[in-house]
Amino acid sequence: MALGIHIERITPIYPAKVFLQWSLIDPTESGSYTFTIHRSGSTGGEWEVLLAGGQNIYNYIDDLTEQPLHPDDGKVNLLSLQRQIYYRVTVVPPSGCVNQATSEPHALRPELTQPWLQGLRRRLKYDEAILWKTHNGVPLLILKRRKWGNRCTTCYDPVTKALLDEHCTECWGTGFIHGYWDPVTTYGRIYPPNNIDVQVTQRDTKESSNHLITLTDVPYIEDGDLIVERDTNKRFMVRKQTQTELKRRTVHQQVTASYIEHGAVEYEIPVDFRASPPII
Ligand SMILES: [Zn+2]
Repeated sequence: MALGIHIERITPIYPAKVFLQWSLIDPTESGSYTFTIHRSGSTGGEWEVLLAGGQNIYNYIDDLTEQPLHPDDGKVNLLSLQRQIYYRVTVVPPSGCVNQATSEPHALRPELTQPWLQGLRRRLKYDEAILWKTHNGVPLLILKRRKWGNRCTTCYDPVTKALLDEHCTECWGTGFIHGYWDPVTTYGRIYPPNNIDVQVTQRDTKESSNHLITLTDVPYIEDGDLIVERDTNKRFMVRKQTQTELKRRTVHQQVTASYIEHGAVEYEIPVDFRASPPII
């Protein structure tokens, strides 16, 4: 199967940004992947280049703050005249352009864009994300688990494709150097553990209780990702992406995550708490 790219999320962030997240399909090559991001007002183009030569990234925030709010402000602006905005992401694998892949054009949901910025503001004013931020949420750093990139030189066996050391400090048991992508900071809520199934781990890292964590719907979270509570440095391993709700007023995701006891190798993963400003 050839390399492919799939856009997982295109989500507006208050007041005027858009969060893009993608995943790679069948990324078998070890090495550096390069990304180009395009935006257009229609599926047929013209496509504007937002980013070229982006290395080893899985998300992009399109900042539309400077875009005019009204189509009659004298500027010719594609976005203000369109009800939909489309994005397209192209990836070039380590072996080069011949093997590149481009995503299908992916649009913002139309109900957010009539006219799009005003609609966005109105909707997001009530968004749970803002409630979390201002009331009952705590800052969470999301460390997405690497699923492509440079293979670990310490513990990965290219012949058997096996990981030989789950406590490896080069890849943290993921098989890819650095193990996790740079954190994205968002807001969410961690609920006290339920005692129903404590025995979830097959690894011998010290993991204990399962917590339910509710957070913004970006970045999209999958099994194996890490969630770090910024204020306490408590770390959680996502075990189950339990629910994603995409309703008009409610946009959030819910995951079950196991609390990792202090002393586990996951606490050695360097996390720069200041490097990533919250996306909301
Ligand atoms: Zn390793």
